[in-house]
Amino acid sequence: MSDSPKNIVVIGGGIIGSSTAYFLTRHPSYNPSKHTITLLEATSIAAGASGKAGGLLALWAYPSCLVPLSYRLHKSLADEHGGSSRWGYRAVNVGQIDLKGRHITAPHAQASSNGAGKGEGVQGLHGPDVSTDGNVSLKKRSKESYSNLRGMGVPEDLDWVADESVQGYESMGSTKNTAQVHPYQFTTSMAALAAEKGVNVVMGSCTEITTAKGGVEKVKYTDKETGEEKTIDATDVVVTAGPWSGTVWPGAPIGALRAHSVTIRPTREVSGYALFTQIALPKNYKEGVKSKAMHVTPEIYARPNNELYACGEGDNMVPLPKTAADVVVDEGRCQDIVDYCASFSDEMRDGEVLVRQACYLPQVETGGGPLVGPTNTKGVYIATGHTCWGIQNGPGTGKLVSEFVFDGKASSANVSSLDPRRVLRR
Ligand SMILES: Cc1cc2nc3c(=O)[nH]c(=O)nc-3n(C[C@H](O)[C@H](O)[C@H](O)COP(=O)(O)OP(=O)(O)OC[C@H]3O[C@@H](n4cnc5c(N)ncnc54)[C@H](O)[C@@H]3O)c2cc1C
Repeated sequence: MSDSPKNIVVIGGGIIGSSTAYFLTRHPSYNPSKHTITLLEATSIAAGASGKAGGLLALWAYPSCLVPLSYRLHKSLADEHGGSSRWGYRAVNVGQIDLKGRHITAPHAQASSNGAGKGEGVQGLHGPDVSTDGNVSLKKRSKESYSNLRGMGVPEDLDWVADESVQGYESMGSTKNTAQVHPYQFTTSMAALAAEKGVNVVMGSCTEITTAKGGVEKVKYTDKETGEEKTIDATDVVVTAGPWSGTVWPGAPIGALRAHSVTIRPTREVSGYALFTQIALPKNYKEGVKSKAMHVTPEIYARPNNELYACGEGDNMVPLPKTAADVVVDEGRCQDIVDYCASFSDEMRDGEVLVRQACYLPQVETGGGPLVGPTNTKGVYIATGHTCWGIQNGPGTGKLVSEFVFDGKASSANVSSLDPRRVLRR
């Protein structure tokens, strides 16, 4: 590759843009006295899905050409920068759990707890028990109840689901192949670590990428503070605007799916599990609200800071707004997620709801994805469409894009199947 100075502009400060900025500064060819790197973000770093996602990392995620590299990089980033305390990195168990939801009265109302409704009574707390992988069990189950659950494969320390709700459990991952991060903390840390090595983080919304002689020339943007129209000269531009990538680079077939989530502070510290639930809710399960019997499938992740994250299914009710700051949160959908959790866990039912939020995940409209690599315009790269695995695949994507920009080709993984030129309409 040519040795001439580069002005690199990364557009969008979600996990993909922030990880790209980070790995550009760690590339052997990066020389801060010769090259400039700008991370341009319209709203705030991690304002979109990257600040509101669950944060599960899994070796069995997709696409398989990208996952192992990115999973490995998450571990090495955590080791290098103290990720376990800085962004909640830890290995975690994952299970698919079938549950029978209980009737609930009102938010935070009292219902039977752990078998109390069946006349077993609540077991006394015998003091915390820390298992070999650091999970805390409060041993609150009776022997009888525990042997029942063990028969269904429920791990002993997964004791924050009501015994009478559990119908079945299957492990989907162990601390050997699944882990987690706090996405907001991870993304903002990547941006901060990039800034420490010279990246200029600019708050403004890209309005146009201009080209000349078949190559990229400038990035035009509106300054967030002043509203002024400004321009940055660019030799290389990386479009990482998540679901907004199609407005930044028209012709990129990127769609958006809204999803709601909540975080809950449970009544006590809970063991580290990510749960893919299947909950059978009885008819009229919420007191005073008519509803049919139904199945719901929220995903629930325990985080190290005594916080449980839960997200529901996606919806297409409200199209992608102009910016991440304008995302409409449907309180009813958030309350549904809270109530689903309350229907099988006392710790969540009686806990405190901390956050109710929504965001849009980026999807490749032609299927598959993500798109990672060069476009048909010299100097313009795109890295987006990571669907529900953008947190898992962020570092790997950032590393590969840094290689595309500085070396002209990716060498850390073979991602030719993700080549954007296959589907770009421009
Ligand atoms: C409910 C939910 C749970 C999820 N859970 C997980 C999980 O457990 N594990 C996992 O791996 N993935 C998960 N994901 C997926 C993951 O969140 C996304 O794939 C990922 O965050 C996408 O990152 P991004 O950087 O591409 O996009 P975003 O996070 O959307 O970032 C794009 C950024 O670009 C900015 N931008 C937009 N337009 C412009 C412009 N014109 N100029 C400048 N900046 C602009 C935006 O403000 C935004 O900050 C989840 C997603 C959702 C919705």
